[in-house]
Amino acid sequence: MFQKILRVLFLYFSVSGLAVFALPPQEEPGLLRVVLIVLDGVRTEEFFGGTDPDLAREHGVLPRTRESIFPFLWQEMAPRSSVLSGNIHARERACYVSNKQRISLPSYADLLAGFRQSNVVSNRFRGKVKNATIIDRLLEESLLPHEVAVFASWKHIEHITSKSHNNFHLETGPLAGGSSVPWANARADRDLFLTVINYVRTHSPLRFLFIALNDADEWAHLNRYDRYLEAMSEQDEYIRQIVYTLEGHPAYQGNTLYLITTDHGRGRGKAWMHHGQYEGSQYIWALVDAPLTRSLDPALRAYWLEEMASHCSHARMGQMVYSLLEQPAPAALWRREGARVMRQPAHDLFFTDAMP
Ligand SMILES: [Zn+2]
Repeated sequence: MFQKILRVLFLYFSVSGLAVFALPPQEEPGLLRVVLIVLDGVRTEEFFGGTDPDLAREHGVLPRTRESIFPFLWQEMAPRSSVLSGNIHARERACYVSNKQRISLPSYADLLAGFRQSNVVSNRFRGKVKNATIIDRLLEESLLPHEVAVFASWKHIEHITSKSHNNFHLETGPLAGGSSVPWANARADRDLFLTVINYVRTHSPLRFLFIALNDADEWAHLNRYDRYLEAMSEQDEYIRQIVYTLEGHPAYQGNTLYLITTDHGRGRGKAWMHHGQYEGSQYIWALVDAPLTRSLDPALRAYWLEEMASHCSHARMGQMVYSLLEQPAPAALWRREGARVMRQPAHDLFFTDAMP
């Protein structure tokens, strides 16, 4: 609590222009930040193996490699990644959904709780989660409300982010005047992406940024393999631009761990459009990108990378995010970082408005 008070006081004095601090050399560590991105319903099959030959033939699409579907994730992120978990197709260890339902809302709930969020067992869940989430615990212990933001294309993610806090930035579901999509209760991923980019460029740096993209899952449910593949490539491009935008800002650059995953797998073969009790839905994947994250304690880093490689699940991912961010930042580090943030607003670095 004392740390939090110090930080609030510091923010006040910084904004009022009373505090003057020297900028640290570039290589010094800053505050650790975590960006967690979920691509709803992206199967291990396509993520690790590219197009399914039978589905490609049946739906009249050209076969594509994983590098062609996800050029940023496979050509830029994966080669430098610390962990790439869940490739059951290469007989590697599986990464698992943490609930029996193997559908979206329970899985998002487990991910953001760090364990089974027991009262969320359906996509129709509304109301309050039973147990505090990692966002609740981080806001109690180490983070300030303006350091946390949640963006989700699918509206109902709003119900599982927190038990008791409503003062962090939470933006989910349809956007008034936004692009139309052939499904309900969601914003087009492209609109969500633009919202995120605009937010991070105009707000002080976040410690925890959660982004949930939705289009691929919806096209899959509509049995549109062609659009499922396109949506995944668009999501890959959104991630690229988000990472480049953040890494162009000194507060994020070299201080940010990226965790990319999915909420559930899907059925196999002709059952590919379904999730839930269809075999295959329990398998997910996770990519942890932290090679340049100098602000990450080496022992903590080694522990969690090993855990993600050997015991990968939504619950474990949530625990990792909490563990990485639970320590209150040392006051001196926060002062330095605060000074740096004041000197360098998040505008225009590496940002491009050109979209495919
Ligand atoms: Zn889903």
